[in-house]
Amino acid sequence: MARLTIDSTWKKYGEFLALRDINLDIKDGEFVVLVGPSGCGKSTLLSIIAGLEETSYGTLTLGERDVTDLSAKDRNIAMVFQSYALYPTMTVRENITFGMENRRVPKDEQKKAVADVARLLQIEPLLGRKPSQLSGGQRQRVAMGRALVRDPQLFLFDEPLSNLDAKLRVEMRTEIKKLHKRLGQTIVYVTHDQIEAMTLSDRIVVMSGGVVQQFADPDTIYREPANKFVAGFMGSPSMNFIDVDVEGSQNDIRLVYRSNGAELVVPLGTRHEELLPYVGGKVTIGARPEHFVLDGKQEGALVPITARVEVVEPTGPDTMLVFQVADLSLVAVLPANFRPAEDEEINLLLDLEHVCFFDPETTARIP
Ligand code: ATP
Repeated sequence: MARLTIDSTWKKYGEFLALRDINLDIKDGEFVVLVGPSGCGKSTLLSIIAGLEETSYGTLTLGERDVTDLSAKDRNIAMVFQSYALYPTMTVRENITFGMENRRVPKDEQKKAVADVARLLQIEPLLGRKPSQLSGGQRQRVAMGRALVRDPQLFLFDEPLSNLDAKLRVEMRTEIKKLHKRLGQTIVYVTHDQIEAMTLSDRIVVMSGGVVQQFADPDTIYREPANKFVAGFMGSPSMNFIDVDVEGSQNDIRLVYRSNGAELVVPLGTRHEELLPYVGGKVTIGARPEHFVLDGKQEGALVPITARVEVVEPTGPDTMLVFQVADLSLVAVLPANFRPAEDEEINLLLDLEHVCFFDPETTARIP
């Protein structure tokens, strides 16, 4: 297994810049997930790592080797695709051994390798079947088996669970996590699904517009997003953003939202000194749905808010609430037993300890 370093890497398709100055240092044995909206460059970056696309500029190092100019087959990287890419006319056993045949691995080694991965992935009874005789989850396992027998330095996964139904996705997610724990490979994994990103990864790369917006562990991404894009992209329901005026003075900062005669005032007192440079200007408040609570002990950090209920959506474990404050429509996630009526006026508390603030010009989080 090996460390992967991506240095100052750019990718141009004609005049279009698909990747801009990517710098990532992925540790040996690390599970890194690439996430971002459609078209942000995730698959392009994965293809560049695999050697299926050339870089326009930059260097890739795998272990001790500079692999930038090596072809895909010389990089010792295995890739599991969304489509699984199994050969339909071959049995599961033949699909798994195919690559080894090509590399002229001795027959007894092939046999042992197949037996080992089949046991690991619990596909022993399926070895004689064709892909058409397998379920989606079983095909997924075979595709992983084929990658595993190669004993590569690096595994790449391109949305491997997106063709599975919701329940199977969760099961396979757990299996991939267990497998990583057991085998400790270096993995780069692309997904649209932020829950997959949060649960599987050691670190997450959040991309947009061909640029890495943040590369950090899941907790940091969630609690200390680098900017408004990362904050809004990660988390479901999404973070609420409120653009406010910063008023007052050193000992008495107030955040004020005014629109059409309605007003929301958030008194900060001496909290959040980091906002002092913004007095007289504006900031954006970023409040996650769980930052609105019904009660709590941190007096001073909890700001009372009167809200009018718009929509109540019980999700099972929680109640999702869409509510109105001034003329803003915001979302909160509250305990399941809280079931106000629509149009009811309720009192919520905004947890100032955990909300984020963003610079309205740069969109960076104010640390
Ligand atoms: P998705 O989640 O939809 O798969 P992605 O984040 O993987 O998206 P990429 O497939 O990496 O995005 O594409 C990044 C950008 O590069 C897109 O705007 C895409 O249209 C463009 N692109 C990708 N391949 C080519 C190509 N061969 N020629 C020109 N533009 C391309």
